Amino acid sequence: MELLKQKIREQGVVLSAQVLKVDAFLNHQVDPVLMQQVGVEFARRFAGQGIDKVLTIEASGIAPALMTALALGVPMLFARKQQSLTLGGELLTARVYSFTKQVESTIAVAASHLAAGERVLIVDDFLAHGQAARGLATIVEQAGARVAGIGIVIEKSFQPGRGELARLGYRVESLARIASLDGGAVRFLD
Ligand code: 5GP
Repeated sequence: MELLKQKIREQGVVLSAQVLKVDAFLNHQVDPVLMQQVGVEFARRFAGQGIDKVLTIEASGIAPALMTALALGVPMLFARKQQSLTLGGELLTARVYSFTKQVESTIAVAASHLAAGERVLIVDDFLAHGQAARGLATIVEQAGARVAGIGIVIEKSFQPGRGELARLGYRVESLARIASLDGGAVRFLD
């Protein structure tokens, strides 16, 4: 996706050889035109997969997941990181370790929003070690639903996430693949 790569080049900030900050268009301020293109592109890549729902994790996955759900004409559901009093009833949960924040947290979705047999597309902003996507996949499978695929906006291909998810048999589609952040520069894989 050329617009996404251009935004990363022009507005991304390399915080270290491991971490890219994209607060200008994805993780804090959000570019709606870019998000719309992201949604249309995921919908194109997963067309014909019979997707019933798009699942993400709050907060930064919500914008790309919502636009993907809109393009596919299905609902979007986001897992919560904080236990909310309003999230009553039976919960589906998974433990997720964040390497960027160095904390483990429990993510949760109300069981009433995921039905057995549904085909679920997982969408997230970044793929690093694959922890968030694996946690979401665990939740889908607890519901007896199926993971139809995983759509990632920015994949850091030098970290092990894609390999892990592929080894588990998931189809991963990433819109920008970063080969390296060494020396403060973003180098794309393709
Ligand atoms: P993973 O679970 O694959 O290890 O990491 C993915 C999650 O961590 C994403 O949901 C994202 O919020 C966060 N993350 C991982 N790497 C980066 C990064 O380089 N920049 C930002 N902004 N977030 C990241």
